[in-house]
Amino acid sequence: ARTLRIGLIPGDGIGKEVIPAGRRILEALPASLKLKFEFVDLKAGFETFEQTGVALPDKTVETLKNECDGALFGAVSSPSKAVKGYSSPIVALRKRLDLYANVRPVKSVMTATNPIDMVIVRENTEDLYVKEERTYAAEDGSKIAEAIKRISEKASFRIATMAGEIALRRQKIRDSGAASIHQSPMVTITHKSNVLSQTDGLFRSTAREALANPRFASVGVEEQIVDSMVYKLFRQPETYDVIVAPNLYGDILSDGAAALVGSLGLVPSANVGEGFAIGEPCHGSAPDIMGKNIANPIATLRSVALMLEFLNEETAAAKIYAAVDGNLEEGKLLSPDLGGKATTTEVVEDILRRL
Ligand code: NAD
Ligand code: MN
Repeated sequence: ARTLRIGLIPGDGIGKEVIPAGRRILEALPASLKLKFEFVDLKAGFETFEQTGVALPDKTVETLKNECDGALFGAVSSPSKAVKGYSSPIVALRKRLDLYANVRPVKSVMTATNPIDMVIVRENTEDLYVKEERTYAAEDGSKIAEAIKRISEKASFRIATMAGEIALRRQKIRDSGAASIHQSPMVTITHKSNVLSQTDGLFRSTAREALANPRFASVGVEEQIVDSMVYKLFRQPETYDVIVAPNLYGDILSDGAAALVGSLGLVPSANVGEGFAIGEPCHGSAPDIMGKNIANPIATLRSVALMLEFLNEETAAAKIYAAVDGNLEEGKLLSPDLGGKATTTEVVEDILRRL
C-alpha cells in the first residue's frame, strides 16, 4: 500500500465547502487500489490575512515542501481594492514551490451533441508575467510603458516535455477503457512566431525539439498561431487533445476554453512542478453563493483526480473521472449552476456511490 500525504488549503468562501468534498472522495476510493491518505489542514487566503497579517503563512509553504506529496487548494478572495500587504497566495505558492506548469483539462460529457476533451498546458513562470515593466517619457513628454517578454529554452523545453507526457498519459487512460473522442495523442504548439520570431520563435523551435524525443514517437505534433487558434478553438474545439502555450496565451486560451463547457463549477486545474502537484478548481471563492451548500463540487473532484494523475495514480484518477461523468451523463442530481436542484452534499454523495 502507498500512503500519500495531502495538504488541504480550503482558503475562502466556497473553498471551505468544496475542499472537504475533495477529501471525502479520496477517503472513499476503493480499498483494491491500495492507497491510503493522510491529510494536513493548512491556511492561506484573505481570512488568514485578516487574522494573521499574512495571506500565505510560511508554515503552509514549509509543510507542503517537507511533509506533503500533493495538495488541494480551494479558492481565495481578493479584495476589490488593493489592501496594503496583501497579495495572492496561489501566485506566491506557484513561485515558492516552482510549480512551473498550469494544467487545465476542459471536457464535456461524451454524450453531448459536440463533445470536447482537451487539456491546456500553460507555462507558468515567465513570458510577460515576469512583470518587468517600466514607464518613461517620450520626447514630447507623453508617457510610454513597456514590458519584458522573456522566453527561455529551459522553461519552454520542460513545459513541452510535460505536454508530451500528458498526451501519453491521456492515451493510457483511454487505453484502459475511458470513453473519449480522440483516437491518438496530439500536441498543438501555440505561438505567434510569425511576428515575434525570437521569443515565440524560441518557444516554437524548443517545443518541437522536446517533442521530437523518441519517447513521444506515438504523439502527433502540430502548431498553430494563437489568433487563428482562438478561432478554431471556438469553431472546432473537438479537434484539440493537448495544447501547449507560453504563459499569456495559455492564460487567455484556458479561460476561453472553460467557457465551452457551461459552468466554472466543472473546470479543474493543477499546478505542477518536479514531483509535486496542487489540484485547484478554476473558480474563485464565489461569495454570492457561499454558505448555501449549492456550490458545484465537480471542479474540485476533477482537480483531485488531476492531482492523482501527477502523483502517478492514473487508475484512481480514472475512477474519479468516470464517477463524475456518470453523474453528469445521468443528469438527475445536478447543482443549480447546471440547471439542477441538488445541493453540494447530494452531488458529492451521488458521485461517491458511483466510485
Ligand atoms: P468566481 O469564480 O468566484 O464566481 C463567478 C461566478 O461563478 C459566480 O456567480 C459564482 O457563484 C459562480 N461559481 C463559481 N464557482 C462555482 C461553483 N463551484 N459552483 C457554482 N457556481 C460557481 O469569480 P468572481 O466572482 O469573479 O470572484 C470572487 C472572488 O474570488 C474574488 O475575491 C476573486 O478575487 C476570487 N477569485 C479567486 C480565484 C482563485 O482563488 N484562483 C479565481 C478567481 C477569482
Ligand atoms: Mn486567468
